[in-house]
Amino acid sequence: MYDPLKSKGVSPFDPQPNSYWHHTHTCRKFESLKQNISTDYLIIGGGYTGLSAAITFAEADKNTTVIDANTIGFGCAGRNGGFVLSGSGRLSLSAIEEKWDQKTAKGMQAEFDGAVALLKQRINKYDMQVDWCDGAYYKLAHSKKSATTLHHAAQKQAADYGVKSACLSQADIQDRFAIAHAYGGVKVDGACLHPLKLIDEYARVAENLGAALYYSTPALEIEKTHNGFEVSTPNAIITAKHVLIASNAYTPKRFHEKVDNKQFPVQSSIFVTAPLSESQKNACGLTSPMSFMDTRMMKYYYRVLPDGRLLFGGRGAVSARGSDSNSEKQRLYKAMVKSFPALKGIGMDYFWSGWVSVSFDDMPRIFADTKSTNKLGYAMGYCGSGVSFAAFSGMRLAQRMMGQENFDTTLPLYSSPLPSFPFPAFRRMALHGLYQWAKVAEH
Ligand SMILES: Cc1cc2nc3c(=O)[nH]c(=O)nc-3n(C[C@H](O)[C@H](O)[C@H](O)COP(=O)(O)OP(=O)(O)OC[C@H]3O[C@@H](n4cnc5c(N)ncnc54)[C@H](O)[C@@H]3O)c2cc1C
Repeated sequence: MYDPLKSKGVSPFDPQPNSYWHHTHTCRKFESLKQNISTDYLIIGGGYTGLSAAITFAEADKNTTVIDANTIGFGCAGRNGGFVLSGSGRLSLSAIEEKWDQKTAKGMQAEFDGAVALLKQRINKYDMQVDWCDGAYYKLAHSKKSATTLHHAAQKQAADYGVKSACLSQADIQDRFAIAHAYGGVKVDGACLHPLKLIDEYARVAENLGAALYYSTPALEIEKTHNGFEVSTPNAIITAKHVLIASNAYTPKRFHEKVDNKQFPVQSSIFVTAPLSESQKNACGLTSPMSFMDTRMMKYYYRVLPDGRLLFGGRGAVSARGSDSNSEKQRLYKAMVKSFPALKGIGMDYFWSGWVSVSFDDMPRIFADTKSTNKLGYAMGYCGSGVSFAAFSGMRLAQRMMGQENFDTTLPLYSSPLPSFPFPAFRRMALHGLYQWAKVAEH
């Protein structure tokens, strides 16, 4: 499996993930680039960020090319849980308020909500078929203390940020779901979709609007020239006036100084069960599409799929080696059985992992050297929340590159580049330590 900190880069021959999404949808195919070309805007990475940037450029009639090292949905776009979340990175609105101030937190909230609005708007405008399902989203407290914190945070969010939610006691949760070890929760409106269908639809729209798309075309090197950039790929050189790096957690270790050691790829893993029987659904209260996330530092997240299966996710292995091992599968499976004892013995039909991009200060960045004549920009660091936000970032990055900055660029998303990780070589060792600590502290 591809490992961003070990492999040379994503290869066109890296296998597709064995995801439920890939088994339930086949994406369109694009050719690889075989001859030299010139373009105004070159986007490296054809995930949500890259294709959304391409749609924004193409809507403005700009000459745009997207290259991706593998196929549609090779990165997170084909591996995620499909939760449509308002937010990104790892900081809550309260944490942003504490670190900066309430005005900044409100500005960030507007961007997060804008991401969900953009997703819905494009789905309608371009008639995208993405298996959208509305359904409640439950945040579940994994301890008594976290239940109190969760309820206080929900009350503050309602009072200061107008976020509507319902606080649930431990008894409420037990009555509704029989989820073991949940000490209370908060219910908000939620939605989920089929993430691979979404990226395939973005590709359709970007191409129809006039962007050129090439897959199986890894960018090997980016060289600055006197009037732009030359990007080498295995069979051709691309001359570009401007370059956008949209490879997120799949960015190779040594790629470009602007992004090297600026984000930490961390694995998240998911499995999908066999379809639940009616009695299993009733025993667990999982009778319609709905989604859940708990309050652990290493969160578990799960949702009921439209065909009645349960998708269950959590942290993955520290490195790619062993990410598909039985011990990793069993660790997640046991966590599911602990929450839903009635599902003990149900089959695990699919299991896969993917890399999420974590920034050093938990804040994503959408950054470009906007003062240069020939600009280079990037957007990454969304952590586990990018289904709506990565596409919004792609739009904002494209707007920045085109000089259309009629939004608040003083927000921390935009005002500074990604900070470097100190001692990058030790990131995985620290992560391993954190997982060991969480195993004891959050058991
Ligand atoms: C297991 C898992 C579960 C998740 N669940 C959710 C969820 O439920 N909700 C949510 O909001 N978010 C979730 N996320 C996060 C979300 O999927 C990501 O934030 C989002 O997909 C990022 O989109 P992207 O376009 O920036 O990156 P990606 O989709 O990862 O795309 C990057 C692309 O860059 C390409 N690339 C890399 N290097 C090169 C190169 N040298 N040249 C050309 N191309 C290159 C890759 O092939 C890849 O296609 C999850 C992530 C994972 C891994």
